[in-house]
Amino acid sequence: MLVDYHVHTLGHDTFHRSDEDLALYCQTALSRGLKEIGFAEHDYYYFDFDPERILVQARRFPELNVRVGVEVDFVPGREAEIRAFLKARPFDFVIGSVHQVDGFSFDEERDIPKYAEWETTDLFRRYYSCVAQAAVSGLFDIIGHLDLIKIFNFVPLQDALELAWPALAAISAAGLCIELNTNGRYKPVRDFYPGQALLTECRRLGIPLTLGSDAHQPTDVGREVRLAAALAWRAGYRKVATFSNRKRSLVPLG
Ligand code: ZN
Ligand code: FE
Ligand code: FE
Ligand code: ZN
Repeated sequence: MLVDYHVHTLGHDTFHRSDEDLALYCQTALSRGLKEIGFAEHDYYYFDFDPERILVQARRFPELNVRVGVEVDFVPGREAEIRAFLKARPFDFVIGSVHQVDGFSFDEERDIPKYAEWETTDLFRRYYSCVAQAAVSGLFDIIGHLDLIKIFNFVPLQDALELAWPALAAISAAGLCIELNTNGRYKPVRDFYPGQALLTECRRLGIPLTLGSDAHQPTDVGREVRLAAALAWRAGYRKVATFSNRKRSLVPLG
């Protein structure tokens, strides 16, 4: 089964929330052969977001399962605030993502000059420490774009897999799921998150996997998800994770 559990209608400069746009997300998903999509709005847009509007449109596409979740921007120290935010809302799934390290927001073009202030190995180590803390927090179902820190091709001196190890151990111990996120294919790094070596390591550790496009536009839903499923298969995965009411199911991949 092909799924896309990382779809945005809001952000960062583009907002797709008309009924036509919402329907187009569903249409695009079906046209790419998906059976299920999960809307994962950024938590900081939630004040301005009514999931009911998505579900109303979704009813026009009964052959598509639509889930509503959230992508939470994880920062160590935010745990209590995040817990309160999640408690107030009936999500199907919650993605925990690290987009900043020690106050350095690192994943947009305008952030590139700031990399000069960091030693890359140290930055990777700090990044994966945040990911590990996200896993340990117990707040999330899925860890988002596991190796996002590679986005602009800054390469650490130390082996990247070794640097990721504390995060992998924490994810595995917490029984969390990761996603194979296709969005990095359209970023300077031109690779999936996670890349092949890391994905294979996750598989070896028995970490479950779901698929996501990180689409920020209706026509990007399911983008390269079929290719991602093929890569996951090659890495040894035979199941893909789906979510409802924060309960995980594993269904046959592909
Ligand atoms: Zn975004
Ligand atoms: Fe993200
Ligand atoms: Fe996202
Ligand atoms: Zn994301």
